[in-house]
Amino acid sequence: MAFDYESLIKDLPDYPEPGVVFKDITPLLGDAEGFRAVVRDIAGHFADRGVTKVVGAEARGFLIGAPVAYELGVGFVPARKPGKLPRATRSEDYTLEYGTNTLEMHLDAIEPGDRVLLVDDLAATGGTAVAQARLVEAAGAEMVGMGFLMELAFLKPREVIARETDVEVYALV
Ligand code: 5GP
Repeated sequence: MAFDYESLIKDLPDYPEPGVVFKDITPLLGDAEGFRAVVRDIAGHFADRGVTKVVGAEARGFLIGAPVAYELGVGFVPARKPGKLPRATRSEDYTLEYGTNTLEMHLDAIEPGDRVLLVDDLAATGGTAVAQARLVEAAGAEMVGMGFLMELAFLKPREVIARETDVEVYALV
């Protein structure tokens, strides 16, 4: 039977601003069985796709993306907020459910021929995922899938992502 992820994801109304219901995944990450199930289920779903790199965005994308990369036996590439990566980067601006931001990736982190899996905790508007897809494409590599712990379907992230790329979007919740 699949793990009951939702029981360990807490709703926080009006966080970080009025009108937004924030999904707090930290109880799930803090649960040994739950955390393991998240990583195994996302990695397992994409295990036969020839993934060579996992990309995850600061900060919650690191928490799930890095162990998924470890589980798949491939490298992890961080997409970070401006000024955090020490060497030459390329960057993409994107809009969030609440605000705008920029993500950067080291120029040499992904190479042509890489098959990239994007992992994040949550897809809301899909903007963060699209920014990472653009960074992967700019590196000349192929995005082979996107795996999320949770998708806020009412915000229609799949539609936004589908305008950019036809990769499979997989969400546990
Ligand atoms: P999007 O770009 O799809 O609008 O937002 C997704 C990004 O914002 C993810 O990196 C995610 O970590 C963060 N995010 C947005 N809303 C929430 C939320 O309710 N809960 C959590 N845990 N992260 C969120």
